[in-house]
Amino acid sequence: MNGMRILLVEDEREAAHMLAKGLREKSYAVDVAEDGPAALEKAEISPYGLVILDIMLPGMDGLEVCRRLRSNGTRIPILLLTARVNVDDRITGLDSGADDYLTKPFDFGELLARIRALLRRGPELQTTTLTIADLSVNTRSHLVTRAVKPIKLTSKEYALLEYLARRQGEVIGREDISEHVWEENYDPFSNLIEVYMQR
Ligand code: CA
Repeated sequence: MNGMRILLVEDEREAAHMLAKGLREKSYAVDVAEDGPAALEKAEISPYGLVILDIMLPGMDGLEVCRRLRSNGTRIPILLLTARVNVDDRITGLDSGADDYLTKPFDFGELLARIRALLRRGPELQTTTLTIADLSVNTRSHLVTRAVKPIKLTSKEYALLEYLARRQGEVIGREDISEHVWEENYDPFSNLIEVYMQR
């Protein structure tokens, strides 16, 4: 299943930083790759729920990265970012195997809506409210209630809870959690997951 972990491929550091920051505030775990080869390597190692891929990259461009990801058999949803307002680009982008594209500059809310749509694609992700006994998790508003009472959570607490709620009835290992909810700089020897689980 798709986690909430995103691979962002963007060479412009400032833009990548701002975007990653905004996404983390929305409970997504974000790894950043600055070029095509780094992106392909990361995609091979980690189970991303989504790739946000800028077309304009030095060396191998985003379209080529997209083609290579697909030729490796990857079915991860891919959202292309393009600075060019060009219909050809859009067609080439979709032909290269991307699922959707967004023209820069874009509205952050629009990006979030596209991300939600792409992450929802799997059949088990259609619903926006996950319910377990008296616990309710709204994956759109991130509103969590228990016996109708709202519960305040930090973005990471929310991400962990949503991940567990989506996989209710399953036994989830520490590794599953670190791979789908945390970023690549997560230290496997830390007790951060235990701390969050306890909360
Ligand atoms: Ca770029």
